Amino acid sequence: MNQDMKELIASVPVVREMQSAQEVCWENPRLAPAQEALSRLPLTGSDIDDAQSRLARFAPFIQAAFPETAPNHGLIESPLTEIPAMKECLNRRFDAKIAGRLFLKRDSDLAVAGSVKARGGIYEILKHSEDLAVEHGLVRPGDDYAAFASPAFREFFSKYAIHVGSTGNLGLSIGIISAALGYRVTVHMSADARQWKKDLLRTKGVTVMEYASDYSRAVQEGRKLAEQDPMSYFVDDENSVNLFLGYAVAARRLAGQLKAQHVAVDAQHPLFVDLPCGVGGAPGGITFGLKETFGDNVHCFFVEPTQAPCMLLGMATGKQNDISVQDIGLTGLTCADGLAVGRPSKFVGKAVGELLSGEMTVRDAVLFDYLRALDETELLFIEPSACAAFHGAVKLHTMAHYLKAHALCAEVLQNATHIAWATGGVLVPQAERSAYLATHL
Ligand SMILES: *Cc1c(COP(=O)(O)O)cnc(C)c1O
Repeated sequence: MNQDMKELIASVPVVREMQSAQEVCWENPRLAPAQEALSRLPLTGSDIDDAQSRLARFAPFIQAAFPETAPNHGLIESPLTEIPAMKECLNRRFDAKIAGRLFLKRDSDLAVAGSVKARGGIYEILKHSEDLAVEHGLVRPGDDYAAFASPAFREFFSKYAIHVGSTGNLGLSIGIISAALGYRVTVHMSADARQWKKDLLRTKGVTVMEYASDYSRAVQEGRKLAEQDPMSYFVDDENSVNLFLGYAVAARRLAGQLKAQHVAVDAQHPLFVDLPCGVGGAPGGITFGLKETFGDNVHCFFVEPTQAPCMLLGMATGKQNDISVQDIGLTGLTCADGLAVGRPSKFVGKAVGELLSGEMTVRDAVLFDYLRALDETELLFIEPSACAAFHGAVKLHTMAHYLKAHALCAEVLQNATHIAWATGGVLVPQAERSAYLATHL
């Protein structure tokens, strides 16, 4: 470790704690009033509206290509389920002090890709496909996008290639949607990616390239290959505005679901949302959408593994993607494969720098305890990465300074709504589920 790094670590207390792989809770000193923070961003609510309309235009195609989305008329959306028995269990067994109600946002059950990546990843490919189709005169405003499922469109898209680097779930989402449209698609998988994800993609006709190294390397290789082919498009998970906006749409839909369940969100009824974080795109985009929709009444926290807290490291040091978890002596290795990222997105770090309330880190062993608790109390399964979300609600009571600064006293917290954002799970094979349930670290 060089001298600069040693001084940096010494000057940011939370980094010293992170370095020894302890669990930490961090309050973001840069959090600003939502309106001010949002006004400083290059993206606005109308960008989210635009993304939402595009997904509505593509709904007839989604419904045609993925019949399981028919009940939702081609919109890929997940249920919001109250989990009172899990809340009680977290309070009793995990020392949480959750007042108010606890819900699970079940992106773990999202159609087509089985994870939160069904939002950003699918949106990005649909946007790219619409751009190509418009450019080549295949569609005009007002056309029925069911045409995207036709042999003529598939033939057209088969001339184009898609590349993406992934720890697993992004590859599933990009691979499945791209193959459905007819593209030649290659997924560059890092060493952390699970075998069943690679196998599933290959059955869909996706080319899977495997790398012995981590996620950043897989991304680099994908980018390089895409650059050599003028007919190809590289999905850049670290810098993509389109991915970010696809995720942000979730907030608009959540507002409708809360209303339908008569859940109020206002100063006296705060909303706490806890989001598992890898490179930052999914939790960042969702946070942007939530702050744009609920303003100061929503409090967003990211949760990362103690061995791979890249976003927290980038934000707390201000170095964004100029620092990696390996730089402070962490391994970057975690059973939470969706969160196994050593270096965060700079774009996301900047976008949420004044929107994010704080971060928690969690040990892998605890993720499996949450996984078992959810199975026992609610008969629900979500993957280890997704279980990180519970840690936010569990640790909130330790953030005394934050709660005081935002006038979140006991009476107000009694009225609070907590949402654990479950980011993946439904595609996990039964044998893997049983192995997870039996894992005690
Ligand atoms: C990708 C992923 C995340 C985090 O998303 P990022 O955009 O990488 O921050 C969380 N949970 C699961 C299951 C994921 O697949």
